[in-house]
Amino acid sequence: MKGIHMNRSSMHSSVKRSPVKHSSVRHSTGRTGADRHDPCKHSSGKHLFGLAAFLLSALLLLPACSQTEGNIKADETEFRIVTSFYPMYVFTRNVAGSIPNISIRNMTSPQTGCLHDYQLRPSDLKALENADAFVINGAGMESFLGKVLEQYPGLTMIEASKGIQLLTDKNGEPNPHLWVAISGAMEEVRQIAEQLAAADPQHADAYRANADAYVAKLEALSKTMHEALDPLPDKKIVTFHEAFPYFAKEFGLEIAAVIEREPGTEPGAGELADTIGIIRKLNVKALFVEPQYAPKAAETIANETGATVYSLDPFVTGKDDDPADSYEIVMRRNLDVLKQALAGP
Ligand SMILES: [Zn+2]
Repeated sequence: MKGIHMNRSSMHSSVKRSPVKHSSVRHSTGRTGADRHDPCKHSSGKHLFGLAAFLLSALLLLPACSQTEGNIKADETEFRIVTSFYPMYVFTRNVAGSIPNISIRNMTSPQTGCLHDYQLRPSDLKALENADAFVINGAGMESFLGKVLEQYPGLTMIEASKGIQLLTDKNGEPNPHLWVAISGAMEEVRQIAEQLAAADPQHADAYRANADAYVAKLEALSKTMHEALDPLPDKKIVTFHEAFPYFAKEFGLEIAAVIEREPGTEPGAGELADTIGIIRKLNVKALFVEPQYAPKAAETIANETGATVYSLDPFVTGKDDDPADSYEIVMRRNLDVLKQALAGP
């Protein structure tokens, strides 16, 4: 290790002494994979001028050096957006992804799904460390927000559901799954764009222009889906987990029963019997499971009632590198499933 420094100022003991400590730091950071541009890597000079320059640059670079590995980026001019989960990530990419000097990072894994009862991990809080804005769905989806605000009291929150009328369940709890309806997605995209424009005024026009273009695509999608679904005579469905009320309201679907409320909680025998009773009474022909949920209860119900099990995707999971139009792709797939399920005999 020491040999590396031999070509440097071995004859200038006064210069040599202080960089020794620095060089050991340098090598340890090099080991952690910081070999990309490392502002801490600077060579000491051979003259007093060099020493002065070294001290000055060390002083100037001190804040940059103190930033740790795992930061989003150390570029001070960049506007850093972190999103809470997959649908917010996709919407934000459509609003801001094409704008230079903006980074977008999803805090949770794209396979996480809904954040009901999600437990924050240290890596989640770490992801927010240098964020300029945190895009959340709100309406109770991010139940961990208190912890985030405790750690980052000054963090700018971009709340996609802000000001949007919410549906409530029978206990009066707001339903957060706004984005599952296309009209809800459009409203959330507008909110994200407006609030980002307020938080980052220099890109305000770009945020709004991108939102306009994206909303126009979503409007076209909504029109296509209405044309296909509106004429269907029987629109009674049974779903899993309460992700679909906004979607059902938008397209006039009647949710006759919700089988399972949260991931991983199987319905009890009594609840199962009630659901089977409702399906028989209303002659419901289609059960919709979500790809994120185990279809066991649905299969039991289907076997008992003769209803068919289909898969309807509430757009809560995907991949980080999904195409920007992944929401439209999922909704078109849902449309195909609904047409098939509700087409009648
Ligand atoms: Zn959910």
